[in-house]
Amino acid sequence: MKFGTKAIHAGQEPDPTTGAIMTPIYQTTTYVQESPGKHKGFAYARGKNPTRVALEKCLAELENAKYGLCFSSGMGATDAVAKLLRPGDEVITGDDLYGGTYRMFTKVFANYGIKFHFIDLKDPAAIKKHINSNTKLLWVETPTNPMMQVIDLTACSRIAKEHKLIFAVDNTFASPYLQNPLAHGADIVMHSVTKYLGGHSDVVMGALCMNDEKLYEQLSFILNSCGANPGPMDSFLVLRGIKTLHVRMDRHCSNGRKVAEYLKTHPKIAKVYWPGFPEHPNHEIAKKQMRDFGGMISIALKDASLENTFKVASSFKVFSLAESLGGVESLVNHPATMTHASIPKSERERVGVVDSLLRLSVGIEDIDDLIADLKQALG
Ligand SMILES: *Cc1c(COP(=O)(O)O)cnc(C)c1O
Repeated sequence: MKFGTKAIHAGQEPDPTTGAIMTPIYQTTTYVQESPGKHKGFAYARGKNPTRVALEKCLAELENAKYGLCFSSGMGATDAVAKLLRPGDEVITGDDLYGGTYRMFTKVFANYGIKFHFIDLKDPAAIKKHINSNTKLLWVETPTNPMMQVIDLTACSRIAKEHKLIFAVDNTFASPYLQNPLAHGADIVMHSVTKYLGGHSDVVMGALCMNDEKLYEQLSFILNSCGANPGPMDSFLVLRGIKTLHVRMDRHCSNGRKVAEYLKTHPKIAKVYWPGFPEHPNHEIAKKQMRDFGGMISIALKDASLENTFKVASSFKVFSLAESLGGVESLVNHPATMTHASIPKSERERVGVVDSLLRLSVGIEDIDDLIADLKQALG
């Protein structure tokens, strides 16, 4: 089946007892057993819940994966992957990373004796230079948050295979509609479901998809043992959100393109970061591994003062100033003081997260209203 059909049907059957076409919200913690251990596959809801199982199957199909697992947040999913590691292990990851991932790696897992290398993943030679016998995990985000860099998944996977590393990809910005990392050699795909998959800014959730049975067993063991499981109501909301994922993404992409092109010629803007521009440094790789370029755009203002940046960020009427992304409504975010505030100034500025950078999550409102709002806010 093709994507749009899977988005609506995958993992979901009419309810066998009533015929209800929508997967019920199984709001239960436990399941009655006929005799000890004799049950219908469900014993306790931290381990398994039927609404969540339907969503896990749906997500796996959207990523063309064998297995899917849902977590209480994107960070819960990343945490589970990091728990595959042991003290002394080393991780190679990007120097332009979601702020929360950077914080978890440096402030939580570094304390458990795991060493992280934050490097420029656009340079495969740099990746090789940091690999040693302790290296276990290659963690890649593409496109990156917020600099919209594109990392070559096939090149990363070649290196990971050669050195027997687990290769995990944070696919949040692209969504499974635009990019399927397993097809490019990744072992694990991670999503902040909170963003495009949920799509309506009303659920926090995370997911992992994979093909390898052993990895699936290890990660479901961690999920059940550590308890970052999402609830059935949230699982239902995401199943509902995913039914329009393909339609929403098409509009995010077409609105994103128009906004990027408008901003590119705007006199108050120094630079627009969007992988759809032919002059984007990794545009060719983006074209190879993504189906379209999405609705995430970062801009650097010409007047680089914090005062001016705050003034612009607070002047929008249709865009809302808020963290998060990927919902139907347009958002503007100031990475330096909001999503990426936990990254030291010197480090974030090295990759371009300067004080005058704003990140836009272009929603699916009418494009004329979005352009008019940008025009009045930029002044
Ligand atoms: C939001 C986000 C996360 C974290 O997900 P939560 O659901 O907020 O825990 C991880 N990676 C990226 C790229 C994100 O945008």
